[in-house]
Amino acid sequence: MQNAGFAALRLNWRYLAFDVHPNQLRAAIEGARVMGFIGLNLTVPHKLLAAGMVDVLDEQARAWGAVNTIVFETRVAGGQWVPLRNVPAEQVGDARSRGCNTDGDALIRSLGEEFSRENWRGASVLLLGAGGAARSTALRLAQEGVGRLYLANRTLARVFTLAAEIANQFPQVKLEICVPGQHEQWRAEVGPLTSVMVGFPTEQVDLIINATSLGLKADDPLPISADWLRSRRPSFAYDLIYRPKETAFLRAARQAGCLAANGAGMLLYQGARALELWTGQTAPVGAMRAALEANLNQYV
Ligand code: NDP
Repeated sequence: MQNAGFAALRLNWRYLAFDVHPNQLRAAIEGARVMGFIGLNLTVPHKLLAAGMVDVLDEQARAWGAVNTIVFETRVAGGQWVPLRNVPAEQVGDARSRGCNTDGDALIRSLGEEFSRENWRGASVLLLGAGGAARSTALRLAQEGVGRLYLANRTLARVFTLAAEIANQFPQVKLEICVPGQHEQWRAEVGPLTSVMVGFPTEQVDLIINATSLGLKADDPLPISADWLRSRRPSFAYDLIYRPKETAFLRAARQAGCLAANGAGMLLYQGARALELWTGQTAPVGAMRAALEANLNQYV
């Protein structure tokens, strides 16, 4: 996808993938900086770690506490920092890393495109999962102005931490944590801005998002029962997973009558925005989408 984007812009650049152990992440970022890389993308499990390793953070990366894109910058006469693309190699002096996050905006762009909806203000959303992707999804939706956010996760401690973070940054969002079994024991833990409910919501939900990794493997159980999908029938169902193209969750949601979409759009748009940060040019989204689709079609 990125190489197709560079080719469409006629840039003699290459995008390469490297496996880096988390213990070596700092050294890897530093190595890329001294070797004159234009930038980096980071994925699981590096996004949170990298937030503490870059020299500066942009607004989104600071808000989510996670970095998925790094832009290397150099200082020019006059003292300001500019991306490396703007400076001939022989003139590059001091360089620093700027940590950015393009995931949240990509999710909102993809949701808007898939479901033809301009914004999610006031919407009621059920989010399954509380890992790295769920965290930036929840915070971005809260920033977007959703009215009510139901949070559910296998490990309750993680969902409590996430709820506390949302309540702190976006106190206007009504938060409900879905827990199994008796809930009285949890009430004391969650604070006044969050409530706890047993099981999944019985009220109308506009959008359900699967941000768990359930569905990556063919024999994974559903992240929520098909009965709940049939009886509550949210208008929209989105799965962050894009490989396979249709998870069992998306199939069940479609059969229940929801409009359903996978996470390929989010993947595309986080990459398109990263390319724009590196190149300073509008991303050739058509070329990038075609390359991405050709790749993903191999895994149907
Ligand atoms: P994490 O490992 O950080 O989180 C995994 C989540 O899945 C946790 O909530 C975890 O719950 C839950 N989970 C895992 N196994 C089970 C299980 N057996 N039963 C119930 N819950 C389970 O991963 P990420 O947040 O980074 O990624 C989540 C998904 O989102 C992945 O499928 C990834 O491919 C996708 N993704 C898509 C992107 C896109 O651009 N479309 C971008 C980023 C991610 P627990 O806390 O209990 O362990």
